[in-house]
Amino acid sequence: MGFEFYPELGAFRDEVRSFFENDYPQDLIARVKAGVILSRQDQVRNQQALQSRGWLAISWPREYGGPGWDAAHRHVFEEEADRAGAPAIVPMAVLYVGPVIYTFGNEEQKRRWLPSILDSTEFWGQGYSEPEAGSDLASLRMTAERDGDNYVLNGSKIWTSYGHWADWIFCLARTSREERKQDGISFLCAEMSSPGISVHPIISLDGIHHLNRVDFDNVRVPVSQRIGDEGKGWHYATFLLQGERLSYAHIARKREDMKLLRQLASRLPGDDGQPLIHSPVLAAKLAACEIEVETLGISLMRTLSAGEAASPAQVSALKIAATQSAQRISELFVELAGPQGAVFAERHGEGWQAAMPLVEPFAPPAMAAYLFERAQTIYGGATEVQKNIIWRMLDRQ
Ligand SMILES: Cc1cc2nc3c(=O)[nH]c(=O)nc-3n(C[C@H](O)[C@H](O)[C@H](O)COP(=O)(O)OP(=O)(O)OC[C@H]3O[C@@H](n4cnc5c(N)ncnc54)[C@H](O)[C@@H]3O)c2cc1C
Repeated sequence: MGFEFYPELGAFRDEVRSFFENDYPQDLIARVKAGVILSRQDQVRNQQALQSRGWLAISWPREYGGPGWDAAHRHVFEEEADRAGAPAIVPMAVLYVGPVIYTFGNEEQKRRWLPSILDSTEFWGQGYSEPEAGSDLASLRMTAERDGDNYVLNGSKIWTSYGHWADWIFCLARTSREERKQDGISFLCAEMSSPGISVHPIISLDGIHHLNRVDFDNVRVPVSQRIGDEGKGWHYATFLLQGERLSYAHIARKREDMKLLRQLASRLPGDDGQPLIHSPVLAAKLAACEIEVETLGISLMRTLSAGEAASPAQVSALKIAATQSAQRISELFVELAGPQGAVFAERHGEGWQAAMPLVEPFAPPAMAAYLFERAQTIYGGATEVQKNIIWRMLDRQ
């Protein structure tokens, strides 16, 4: 691809590395390394530290407050952030709805929402899925009935990640019934403090509160909070999903994970007292994962370089490969953790390591990550659904 050899990228990499070493809050990196569950306030500090350099919304164009980087610069930045061990940002505002607002929103909406996304004073939730509409999202039933200058929303959204942190939620809701179920859906933004919205926690397999059900009972949303045209929400929704699916790759984090796995396998003894790395079976698994990550990296750069010319099939193929690779990596961590991973649910607060001094510090968070990462091949469109998208594209050729 050649992007590794742009002369200015070396200086850029040094600048980013120096930022993470000298100007970024080191206690946040330490919390991630220690497997501490981050709070909303931690995430605000993370995102505000990035934005102090204008490096939060790295895919946004300059005119909306992004750095206007090309794919190679974004890749180097993410590589350095992952190398430093900084937490991933909360994606719903910056990665998902932000681009929809600056691409399809009106000037007033851009002025209202983009600054508070960039300074992380307002968080967002994604209100797409419903109890009976996940893979088949177009079957969604939430209604938005027009009443003067408002829509009145009724229905439920489910699996809303970080809905309990959100100040706003972007929702797909049915503003009319049409023959084609993708028609008549609108893209509406509701303030979470609106009367009639209630948030109900769902605890996931890892024992943590990431997810929620959000109920809407006669919630009034001003028409001015609809993005784009009434009834055309499906178009904005699929634009958003393309970006969402591309955001799962995390190549640099996978490379860091592979390095850590090798270090652990060189240190931890197997049943024969020898370091686990001497096991040919484990060595083969590590090599296979590393090859997978490197080929994924090349595919990602190819897709990012294609920009808007990237086909939905390419994006879907990447989503499948990236999420399956993440799961295989998490399985290797669990293999190294052994039974020590089982105490993942006892990991509370800063002091968990001191309370369990005989437990390898990596083991409980690795088990929790393994359990949560089962979801990677479900959210953003399940693997089977991505395969259907690829097949439809092939069928058309
Ligand atoms: C951790 C997590 C976080 C999430 N966060 C959010 C969020 O913030 N906002 C949001 O709106 N949603 C969120 N989701 C919801 C997610 O998008 C849905 O779970 C997903 O789209 C699958 O829908 P479903 O759960 O209803 O499963 P279903 O659609 O019922 O699917 C069940 C199974 O059937 C398979 N299947 C379904 N249809 C087909 C088909 N046509 N062909 C072949 N196989 C098929 C699926 O692949 C899956 O294996 C999240 C989900 C998880 C697990």
